[in-house]
Amino acid sequence: MADIREYPRSAEGSNISKIVVDRDLCIAAVSCMAVAAETWELDDENKIVVTDANSVDDDTLIASAEACPTKAIFLYDTEGNQVFPK
Ligand code: SF4
Repeated sequence: MADIREYPRSAEGSNISKIVVDRDLCIAAVSCMAVAAETWELDDENKIVVTDANSVDDDTLIASAEACPTKAIFLYDTEGNQVFPK
């Protein structure tokens, strides 16, 4: 079964209300953490988890997801539409 985790986001003024991580795709490249260190952490399986979904603004969060070489990070808006990847 796919190892997918969802994290609600409620940052003020944000259009992104959910972060989804496909942990099967995460290869611990930590590029996402280089962009938004406050948002992510590697767990003891060497897979990414969200530590603070509201720690950065939308542009930084999108840049963080863009930095992932395997596109393991998915972002959704308040209406459930996928914002990233497009
Ligand atoms: S950049 Fe992608 S592969 Fe690397 S740690 Fe983050 S989610 Fe995992």
